Amino acid sequence: MNRLVPIKTKEDIFPEYRDTPIGDLLEYHDLDRDFESYDSAQLLVGMCMDNRKHLHIPDNFSYIIRSGGANLRYSEFKVSYAIAVGNVRHIALIGHSNCGMVNLVARKEQFIGGLVDTAGWDRSFAEEHFNQFAPLFEIGNEIDFVLSEVKRLRNRYPKVMVAPMYYRVEDNKLYLVREE
Ligand SMILES: [Zn+2]
Repeated sequence: MNRLVPIKTKEDIFPEYRDTPIGDLLEYHDLDRDFESYDSAQLLVGMCMDNRKHLHIPDNFSYIIRSGGANLRYSEFKVSYAIAVGNVRHIALIGHSNCGMVNLVARKEQFIGGLVDTAGWDRSFAEEHFNQFAPLFEIGNEIDFVLSEVKRLRNRYPKVMVAPMYYRVEDNKLYLVREE
């Protein structure tokens, strides 16, 4: 089943998101809609730290928290801040293709060796660091993870609208993720 929905026209945006800041994000990024001007943030975006992605959005439009795998479990205070102080009522959580937080164990040696060679870490400390944190940051599968993280955020912030999205690094487009 293909859970990714490309946005070719405004009608492709799910009705519940259309004409909300979530729909606006999709229109700006995917449909090249003319930028409006904003004096405060409308949206919170959670997305991976990966260097291959950037969003085509107006100035001041969005808070952005970047974290490996779009995992906001360890950024909760910042999410709360954007909602409580920034008055944001919408979150777009954006996973992406080919994410480095999938199958971390396959890069264990590279990770440890890199810390030793590039950062000057002691090998046993680097190993312990990997073993301690890799299980917390592993996301398993990009789409499944973003869906589970969206559920968690909806529970945590029940009055906030949270939408799962996916960024394909192959075409730099944003997709909605179908939930069922
Ligand atoms: Zn990533």
